[in-house]
Amino acid sequence: MSVVRNNIAVMPGYVPGEQPQSGRFIKLNTNECPYLPSPRIAEACLEKIRQGLNRYPDPMGNLFRRAAAEKFGVPMEFILTGNGSDDILTILTRTFVGEGETLRLPYPSYILYKSLAQLQNARSEEILFDENWRLTPEFTAPTPGLKLVYLPNPNSPSGTVLSRQEILAVADALPCPLVVDEAYADFAEENCVDLVLQNRNIIVTRTLSKSYGLAGLRFGFVIAHPDWIQEFVKVKDSYNCDALSIVAATAAFSDESWFVETMAKMKKTREAMVPQLEKLGFHVTPSQANFLWCTMPQRPLRPIYQTLREENIFVRYMPYDRWPYGNGEGLRISVGTDEEVEILMKRLGEILS
Ligand SMILES: *Cc1c(COP(=O)(O)O)cnc(C)c1O
Repeated sequence: MSVVRNNIAVMPGYVPGEQPQSGRFIKLNTNECPYLPSPRIAEACLEKIRQGLNRYPDPMGNLFRRAAAEKFGVPMEFILTGNGSDDILTILTRTFVGEGETLRLPYPSYILYKSLAQLQNARSEEILFDENWRLTPEFTAPTPGLKLVYLPNPNSPSGTVLSRQEILAVADALPCPLVVDEAYADFAEENCVDLVLQNRNIIVTRTLSKSYGLAGLRFGFVIAHPDWIQEFVKVKDSYNCDALSIVAATAAFSDESWFVETMAKMKKTREAMVPQLEKLGFHVTPSQANFLWCTMPQRPLRPIYQTLREENIFVRYMPYDRWPYGNGEGLRISVGTDEEVEILMKRLGEILS
């Protein structure tokens, strides 16, 4: 093993949520959309296949960049596409964070950021949220070698949001770019896309995995000042998005009524889940994402997760050894269809009684 770089050999590696591939199950563990995506996507892909896939795709995915630029009211030079937003996060980390330098993230949040730092042989600083999932002054404190700060908004696993004013203040206080990971922003009341035009140290990432029902497609993008985009282009794989994903993602953006209806349905289900979970004895953190963070200090949650899992009901059990509040653990439950939620609540009621 000694031929492997030491930072790779010692890192644990990011472990994604469980993805069962066969059988019947209720899957509420990785925040996918429970509904099928817009039918326009299959049509667009079929058309592309008929035209042939013998040529390389557009390395810049300009078809999608134009659609995204129009949707968000920014010039297309502000957009870069990725093979899922995880690809985008890899590109950003490789662009800004060198060996021995520092990447900062809040805790608890998306664990992948830390793995990306480890790949660079860089340091990561996990700054605790306070008990109410607010940032502390430590989050903007200067530290030697600080090159990039990640902030998911809404946050995962909490679903909590920081206001645009708070994000602007964080960006102003930091000596380096701030990546606002907006994987769940379509479920929230506001977002930070236009702040990119005001402050080039704000970089926003998005994905079609959650709100567009396209987790299997692998498509994400970043909105950032064109000077940054030019650097990201040097770092990315030449053809990081395939021809089908580019037409599929563009088709997804063209079906506004699918999007509006689906977001309304999912938000309605989310709001209906809260009192039901509270009645079962959970504390539920107010969420602007498509999942709910549920804690229960008086009872260990792992056995509940296990029992559900044996019945093919998947939720995410998350223990955080450095989280000093409650028992440092919770269940993160994605918003499903109303039918899925009904079955979940019934089983939870039986397990907890
Ligand atoms: C799901 C998720 C992503 C990754 O999304 P992909 O586009 O599927 O790679 C990024 N950030 C956060 C916070 C997420 O929860």
